Amino acid sequence: MNLENDLSRLGEAARGHLDRAHGLWIGGRIVMTPASYALTDPSSGRVFARAGEAGGADVDAAVDAARRALGGDWGRMRPHEREEAMLRLAALMEDHGEELSQVETLCSGRLLGNTLGVDVQYSAHVLRYMAGWATKIGGETRRISAPYVPKADLVGLTFREPVGVVAGIVPWNVALGIAIWKIAPVLAAGATIVLKPAASTPLSVLRLARLAQEAGIPDGVINIVTGSGPEVGRALIRHPDVALVTFTGSTAVGRQVAVEAAGALKRHSLELGGKSPVILFEDADPAEAIPQAAWAIFANHGQNCCAGSRLYVHESLYDRVIEGVVAIAETITLGAPLDPASQMGPLFSRGHRDRVLSYVEAGRGEGARVATGGRAFGEAFIAPTVLAEARADMRPVREEIFGPVLVAAPFRDEAEALALANDSEFGLGASVWTNDLARVHRMTRALEAGTVWINCHNVLDVALPFGGWKSSGVGADLGEAAVLACTRLKASVQRYV
Ligand code: NAD
Repeated sequence: MNLENDLSRLGEAARGHLDRAHGLWIGGRIVMTPASYALTDPSSGRVFARAGEAGGADVDAAVDAARRALGGDWGRMRPHEREEAMLRLAALMEDHGEELSQVETLCSGRLLGNTLGVDVQYSAHVLRYMAGWATKIGGETRRISAPYVPKADLVGLTFREPVGVVAGIVPWNVALGIAIWKIAPVLAAGATIVLKPAASTPLSVLRLARLAQEAGIPDGVINIVTGSGPEVGRALIRHPDVALVTFTGSTAVGRQVAVEAAGALKRHSLELGGKSPVILFEDADPAEAIPQAAWAIFANHGQNCCAGSRLYVHESLYDRVIEGVVAIAETITLGAPLDPASQMGPLFSRGHRDRVLSYVEAGRGEGARVATGGRAFGEAFIAPTVLAEARADMRPVREEIFGPVLVAAPFRDEAEALALANDSEFGLGASVWTNDLARVHRMTRALEAGTVWINCHNVLDVALPFGGWKSSGVGADLGEAAVLACTRLKASVQRYV
């Protein structure tokens, strides 16, 4: 088993970017910081680069650049010019796809196929979809009554103005992809952004900022500040010129962000953690559902917010499905993320791997059966794990693990399946596997989740809003909803005499 990245696999372009002196990206230029921190390869624990630690003055400068850009060339650009710039950025991302995905893979430990498919190719798709919105954001026209205004023809209009400066705070698990989920609607709406990537995954986003400049997006529209969440992230949220905070990350940090943003009366959108159920009814086709249930949790090493981390199976199929998922788990090839033969890489850090293992031990202690996995390898690897016969009160069932650990339990009937699925603090996604149309309808309505998938899991589309219920969030990324969130509504009363 070759678990550590071989850095000679990196292309010249990725090597060139990694070797730069990294700083912040403010007003279209690199700004070096006195303090820096190490970036480590999750597969080996070795340091491969350093990133800049922003201070309060840097955050002020970034927000100031974003504020000035609103009143500059960007503010004067027509919608179709914003659209064209976004389309150019999408094409540049594809042209630089290998470089971007290699950089992202090295920082995060995610597989090359995943970073290329999700962070580059799907991001280009998101940019193209959102570019279309630039020319389609509209308002309303009303003939209004206002009976107390004498002798006049009154027209009421509404406008959607750019919201202003947006603070985007994003996690490491799909670093570039989620950065694009934040940046693309901002560009479509004509707003500007200061983005704070997770401390460990800043390099792909810094490269993206240069590509945006090449695409003709004016300086100051996209600014990047890197460094610690509690320091840099909090300073950004508190800045008086930030109008909207759009955050993706854990529920624990999301609560703090909500308090800060609400206290300052700022708009905010929070995309948080999940514990998404996968529900297999007795009429599901096991040949199709078993591999899909396995990859619903094991894809991206279980580090997906909407990973199918709870599996509920009708008692008539339970043993067969658990055996099938275990068989798949045991054939997955663990390996270095830069090696295209690997099917699963390391977790994002050794500390995170140890936290994931502690959930396996908790489940074992609480009486779950470790049907497979639960073993650690190398720097930060863990074998794909299934905790069978897991009860609803167990810690690994109640909390988000964010690793390749599936908890599974049988159910007797639809009412029990629904009760188990909804018995969670979280409400991000849920999937139902059945061919019974009436049941599809009942379950779609009754499941407490922002997205319900039928006979599929984790299928996200940019045309649909993606947001959580309950402790999984407030607001939504993607879709028209994300664009409108980057605007503020203005009404105008016009009197013609
Ligand atoms: P995290 O909450 O630790 O960090 C997220 C971001 O917040 C990072 O940029 C971090 O530096 C910053 N941050 C940390 N403390 C902060 C503070 N006090 N103030 C402001 N910013 C702060 O999350 P993570 O470990 O990077 O990501 C994993 C989590 O993200 C999981 O819970 C996962 O479910 C969630 N997630 C949700 C979605 C979604 O769309 N719902 C998508 C991906 C990931």
